[in-house]
Amino acid sequence: MTAATIIQAAADHGVVLTVVDAKLTFDAPPGALTDELRALLRQHKAAIVAHLTGATTGMTATEETAFRRSCAFIGEHDEELIDDSLERCRVDPAALAYFLTRSLEVPQPIADDRHPCNQCANLNGGGRCVAAQRGDIDAPSRYSPHPTVLRRCAAYVARDG
Ligand code: SF4
Repeated sequence: MTAATIIQAAADHGVVLTVVDAKLTFDAPPGALTDELRALLRQHKAAIVAHLTGATTGMTATEETAFRRSCAFIGEHDEELIDDSLERCRVDPAALAYFLTRSLEVPQPIADDRHPCNQCANLNGGGRCVAAQRGDIDAPSRYSPHPTVLRRCAAYVARDG
């Protein structure tokens, strides 16, 4: 649950949250502050204060992607928990630094460097590979590669346009 949704939930109960001298205060009609709402306010106090005062440090999209990749790597898929942690990172530079350090442990995805031959300048109009004709690759000189199968080829040259 994010600070914004908690503030809205409080407002729905008639509870007005404000920050006075960096402390979270509330104005609520009798009985409006339920135990559940009280627990949420306690648990997310720092994030709510930061949200109300505009003091969030924010996270870049790259940092959030790294954070989410780190969660997936350790098998954490609980969106509520992830949202809570993201919220904390946005208001707590130390938490952000910790999670970003942990995200460095996640193996980076391997870029797919394969290409189909029909995107290669070495494939001529007759469907033959001129790199093979030149002897640049280990293939018969009249090699006609499948045009759309992805392959990792040292002689690949991207077609213009
Ligand atoms: S050089 Fe490689 S990628 Fe290019 S057409 Fe020949 S086999 Fe395909």
